[in-house]
Amino acid sequence: MHEGAIAQSVVDILRDIKDQNGLLSITSATLKVGAVSGVMIDALEFAFEAIKKEESFIKDATLNIINVNVKARCNICNKIYEFDNTDDLIMICPDCQMPLTIINGKELEIVDVEGG
Ligand SMILES: [Zn+2]
Repeated sequence: MHEGAIAQSVVDILRDIKDQNGLLSITSATLKVGAVSGVMIDALEFAFEAIKKEESFIKDATLNIINVNVKARCNICNKIYEFDNTDDLIMICPDCQMPLTIINGKELEIVDVEGG
């Protein structure tokens, strides 16, 4: 399962951060997840909760998710379009009919970790 593997790699990164900083446990982790990152947040949260039962250093950890909307820029006129809803996503500039380049929305990154 895709999200299971992602949750496991997040936990591996959290373990490294804990070890590198001499922490005993992680209390919260904040993740940025782009709307077109291909990650289903519900499934990711579910997988994280399952791993928490096996990894004592994250047993009290909260997973915070920041949703990142898609932003795309026209290669020609440099206009930036933001899409609240991926169903509205277009990949062609309405003005010059040229392809848009996605500049936000593909992220999957850990942006903040707290522990003690
Ligand atoms: Zn354009």
